[in-house]
Amino acid sequence: MSLRVLELMLLVALGALVGWAADEAALAFVGALAGAAIWAARDTVRAARVLRWFNKADPSRLPPYGGFWGELLDRARKSIKKLEKKAQNSDARLEDFLAAIQASPNGVVLLDAAGRIEWCNLTAASQLGFDPQRDLGQYVRNMVRHPAFSAYLNAGEFDREITIDGVGPRPSQPTKISLQIHAYGKKRKLMLTRDVTAVQLAENMRRDFVANVSHEIRTPLTVLSGFVETMQSLELSAEERHQYLGLMSQQAHRMQTLVNDLLTLSRLEGSPAPGAGEWMAASELLDHVAQEGRGLTQVIATTPHRIEPVPSPSLWVSGAKSELISAMSNLMSNAVRYTPGGGLIEPGCRLREDGWVEFFVRDAGPGIAAEHLPRLTERFYRVDRSRSRETGGTGLGLAIVKHVAQRHGGRIEVQSEIGRGSTFTIVLPPTRVRETEPA
Ligand code: ADP
Repeated sequence: MSLRVLELMLLVALGALVGWAADEAALAFVGALAGAAIWAARDTVRAARVLRWFNKADPSRLPPYGGFWGELLDRARKSIKKLEKKAQNSDARLEDFLAAIQASPNGVVLLDAAGRIEWCNLTAASQLGFDPQRDLGQYVRNMVRHPAFSAYLNAGEFDREITIDGVGPRPSQPTKISLQIHAYGKKRKLMLTRDVTAVQLAENMRRDFVANVSHEIRTPLTVLSGFVETMQSLELSAEERHQYLGLMSQQAHRMQTLVNDLLTLSRLEGSPAPGAGEWMAASELLDHVAQEGRGLTQVIATTPHRIEPVPSPSLWVSGAKSELISAMSNLMSNAVRYTPGGGLIEPGCRLREDGWVEFFVRDAGPGIAAEHLPRLTERFYRVDRSRSRETGGTGLGLAIVKHVAQRHGGRIEVQSEIGRGSTFTIVLPPTRVRETEPA
């Protein structure tokens, strides 16, 4: 029997006993009723305190009851603890989930049915210029002020993505953000964003590259086909034929050089970086390059250049021998082609104090204006277009040199001043240089 019922019976019995003692049977019933009323009042007070406790449900301030109410409170406390633990687990899972979305390289924005920002990760905030705290609850159409985005929202057709300008390092240099909305739940929306600046840049570069290559090939091809037509349609003297064939061969050679340079570039881009296994003496590299320069100047200059290697320390460099030779040959070829005949050209090498090694070709040519220097290694970028063409330049030489230097962990440096000549330098890291011959 429960304590509560026992208490009721005791109070009823006590009341009846007191009534009986006072006036025998007549008051015994009244006494029993009074006992029951006292029990009911006490029970009501307890029930009220229990209900009050439920309002706050603070497990640490449990009313000190035993019996039925104590049991009820104890069970309620246990249920509350269980629910609290569940809620904590859900909170932790939600935190993990949000942390995962925060870590995403893509932007995520949650919009409510009215198009207000409910939540966004930091990536989206930085891409679109939101403040992830302050802008919560703002209408997204007010926050992303781009005509393409407004049209996209108004049309409500979200089966494609759009590209808009995002926040860039400078107002004049916005990023390109690809954005798509996905509907979910009850009219809610998920907006995903992705920074496609690099992709677009690569696409533009690819398009420019194809246009440049086509242009470079079209010119000699047009000249060649012109000569072929002339030779087909006109009776030419032996001397004229000889002259035309010479010009045709020049154009064919130009195309060949271009294709070779393109293949070299694509090989450099597509193959793994050379290891440190192959060592060559710097003097071997410099002698080879000086020799090539002397050969070239005999062919193209009326007064041959003075090619005088500067005294250089005895060093060994590691890397792909053919690539290093090709890079230095390109620098030498440029020096010969752009320096007026008879000018001084000095190849050499030097060990820097920080352990890096420099291979350079210094010339006394026309020099290059400062504004061109940052763009010299771009494919097909030429300062002196006609001189480059006249001397068989492809516009790819310095791009090849830059690639070779970078593949060896180094870089290309250019110092030049109009009227005072240029120095092109390949700088390689200390790991690729030894002062004594490696075993
Ligand atoms: P190109 O085949 O036209 O020489 P490069 O990539 O080798 O192409 O060089 C790019 C441009 O840099 C050249 O067109 C030329 O205008 C300039 N340039 C390169 N080397 C020199 C140099 N030693 N002196 C002056 N201008 C140079």
